[in-house]
Amino acid sequence: MSKLLIKNAHFIDGNIFDIYIENNIIKTIGTNLNISSQRIPTIYLHDDEYISSGWIDSHTHCFEKFEIYADNCEEIGYRSGVTTVIDAGTAGADNIEEFYNQTKNCITHVYSLLNISKTGIYAQNELSDMNHIDIKAFQNAYLQYPNFIIGVKARLSKSVIGSNGDLPLYKAIEIANLTDLPLMVHIGTAPLELSKICQYLRPKDIITHIYNPKENGIWDGQHIKPCVLEAYQKGIYFDLGHGTDSFSFDILNYANQNHLKVYSISSDIYHRNRKNGPVYDLATTMTKLYHHGYSLKEVIDCVTIHPANMFHLHHIGKIEKGYQADFTIFKLTNKAKKLIDSTGKSITVSSYIQPTAVIINSKYIQLKEKNNG
Ligand SMILES: [Zn+2]
Repeated sequence: MSKLLIKNAHFIDGNIFDIYIENNIIKTIGTNLNISSQRIPTIYLHDDEYISSGWIDSHTHCFEKFEIYADNCEEIGYRSGVTTVIDAGTAGADNIEEFYNQTKNCITHVYSLLNISKTGIYAQNELSDMNHIDIKAFQNAYLQYPNFIIGVKARLSKSVIGSNGDLPLYKAIEIANLTDLPLMVHIGTAPLELSKICQYLRPKDIITHIYNPKENGIWDGQHIKPCVLEAYQKGIYFDLGHGTDSFSFDILNYANQNHLKVYSISSDIYHRNRKNGPVYDLATTMTKLYHHGYSLKEVIDCVTIHPANMFHLHHIGKIEKGYQADFTIFKLTNKAKKLIDSTGKSITVSSYIQPTAVIINSKYIQLKEKNNG
């Protein structure tokens, strides 16, 4: 039986607790815990460190076969303070087995939002051929990997769908209804029109790339588009999905002025935007929101309990008795840092969120500071 005791754990609400873990499950949370007389491996956290439930990045790419959007799950995962990564559609039904086998022994927990194109993102335009959308193949893949596939992904923008108009959207909804899975739709240049996507998505479906600066985005040049406000009211979740081209400080500010907030903060990371920016990692993406109207609690909720809710991952996302013992330890480092968005605009902030360690699979792993940006 593996046991671990975490002492001096500073929660972001100001509470300080000890946490006792047995077999990778949170057993007890309390003050000055003394667990039996046996010697138990114990970790003392520093006073300037916070603890949260392990971070979840709800939009990443880590199926290494497809070089255009791929990265190593450990690099974007636990080594970046992220204990769970959700791959957003890199794999489809034809290659889910290969993706599963690639990630099943990873330290980082990996899940898939299966692409409605059975090919996955083998090329930029995976939905330009309607024959790639094979509902039976999707259902079979889900039957085979019911714990690995946690949602449906459809990339509904011009360069992906070619001349197929609204058809991929209708197919995506059909698949999501048949499998009873949440649907994440990527938005970009029309077609598809954002208004159409907002109209068809179901409450609790997800729009990613919400702060993209493109014409078919949420901002019409003067206002937030009415269809976006309606979608928000209807309970559609907004996901950040930073990516190479999809995050603008200006659009974030307009959204804030209209009281529109993302439900989840995600990176849309892959090897190029990790190494060359503007993404670098999830912590840098979180820092961008922390300096634009989001409290630390809101930022942390957007990478823990919110994505866990979105994808029905009811065993993670909270520090509570019975939950899986995934933790991210982090600091607010008071040093200047330059942050850059997808349009090349940069700002300098006075502090940033920096993960210092993770606890995953009953192991405490200290992290090296990354030299980002
Ligand atoms: Zn993506």
